[in-house]
Order: sequence, then C-alpha cells, then structure tokens
Amino acid sequence: KTLLDVKNVSKRYGQETLALSNVNFSVNEGEFVSIIGPSGAGKSTLLRCINRMIDATDGEIHFENEDILKYNKREMRRLRTKVGMIFQHYNLVNRLSVIENVLHGRLGYKSTIAGILGLYSEEEKRQAIKLLGLLGLEEQVYKRCDQLSGGQKQRVGIARALIQDPKILLCDEPIASLDPNASKIIMDYLQTVSKTMGITVIVNLHQVDVALNYSDRIIGVSKGQIVYDGYPKDITTNQ
Ligand code: ADP
Ligand code: ADP
Repeated sequence: KTLLDVKNVSKRYGQETLALSNVNFSVNEGEFVSIIGPSGAGKSTLLRCINRMIDATDGEIHFENEDILKYNKREMRRLRTKVGMIFQHYNLVNRLSVIENVLHGRLGYKSTIAGILGLYSEEEKRQAIKLLGLLGLEEQVYKRCDQLSGGQKQRVGIARALIQDPKILLCDEPIASLDPNASKIIMDYLQTVSKTMGITVIVNLHQVDVALNYSDRIIGVSKGQIVYDGYPKDITTNQ
C-alpha cells in the first residue's frame, strides 16, 4: 500500500539554485528506503519538502492519499505528528534531561499551558520511560542531554519522534556525526523500529555500504535528480 507519493517535485532556492528537479518516487507502508548521494545533491531538501518544513516550488506530494501541499495550518500540524524527523545534529535541548527532551519535544506541546509550565502526566512519563528503555537508555532517563555520547543523543532523538506515534520517520544523515560503532547501533534501532513497529523509514545517507546493509530499497540522488531507484541486491550484483 502506497504511503507517500512524490510527483514531479522541484524546489528552487532563489533564482540560481535548483535543488530538486522533477523528482518522482513513491514509498510503500513499512518500507525502509535509503536516499544516497553526495553533499549538495538535494537529499535534505527532499525530506524537508515531505514534512513541509519548506515548500516545494512545483509538483505534488501525496501522503496517505492526500495532497499535503494543499494542507492548511491545522492539517499541517496533524501531518507533523505523523511524520517524525531525525537530524544529524540531534536538535536536543542540552540543558534539559533526556525525558524532558522526549516530552517537551512533542509538537504543539510548548503552546499548551502544560507546555509553558513544563508539566506532563504520569501516563506520559511512563510512556516516555518505556520508549527510552526500548532504546537502551534506561540509565540515562534523568541525565542532562549534554552528558550523553553522540549515539545516546541520537537515540533520544528517535524516542522524541516515536512518542508521537508517527507513520513515517524521515532521518536526515542520522549517523553522519557518529563513529562506526555508534552508527551501527543507531541503524540497528532504526531497523528494529521499522520491522517491529511497522513504521516506514526514509534515511538520508552518504555511506553506500550502510545503505546496502539496511535498506529494502535505495534511491540515488545527484544534482537534484533521481539517478537510481532499486534494490540493494541489484547494486551489488552489477558491480
Ligand atoms: P544534501 O542534503 O544532499 O547535502 P541539500 O538539500 O542540503 O543537499 O542541498 C541541495 C542544494 O540546495 C545545495 O546546492 C545547497 O547549497 C542548496 N540549499 C540547501 N538549503 C538551502 C537554503 N536554505 N537556501 C539556499 N540554498 C540552499
Ligand atoms: P547539515 O550539514 O547540518 O545538514 P547544512 O549545511 O546542509 O547542514 O545546512 C544548514 C542550514 O543552512 C540549513 O537550514 C540549510 O537550509 C541552510 N543552507 C544550506 N545550504 C545553503 C545555501 N547554499 N544557502 C543558504 N542556506 C543554506
């Protein structure tokens, strides 16, 4: 079943930069897709168009059969809870604890009274602790984020996305700042999330070997265009 359908999408920054040019692909529910390509290829722009952090200049993006480029503000808020984002630099609040990052990072929370006061219910707290436990962070729940390693910070980022019960995780270079050991741990967790929770995953990577190891499918991007879309096994046997 198709979850995401990107049709003829282009994105311009100003007059000069055509960051995406006529991009077409669709993603099925539960798929684990890697997007690979050199720096500047347009990978990050593509993910940001899909959750509407930025607006595509042209084309259509259908998510659950709805054209998200036509969404109003309220519909966009709903979209953002269904689309979890994971960032290269984690985007955590370092002076807060791990559990506060998970609970305060929820979309819309900061504009509620509870959010302004930094409150949450026992049930929300239990849910956050459970998720952190699944990500191997039971010892870190009350630590400040600036005391964590990079790999641990990224797991907090994953927990913060998962607490909203998303349909899809968009991961923008999630392991680019991590050593090989921490990278493997993060990729293994993303695979677990995909296989056991049925969450669709799109991950931007520049390491082809990692993409080959973990993906159901690989999309190659160069200079704003898709230059490859296929299975890892076809890439290995062609070389
Ligand atoms: P990648 O994620 O593959 O490294 P990006 O999507 O970050 O690629 O960038 C694609 C192109 O768009 C690059 O030429 C980059 O310099 C340009 N670009 C990205 N973000 C902006 C922006 N906010 N304003 C102007 N140009 C941008
Ligand atoms: P990262 O490597 O952490 O993904 P980038 O260097 O790609 O960070 O981008 C950092 C920020 O700068 C992003 O918000 C992006 O939109 C913006 N950006 C990237 N390239 C350009 C550019 N050529 N002109 C203006 N802004 C850019």
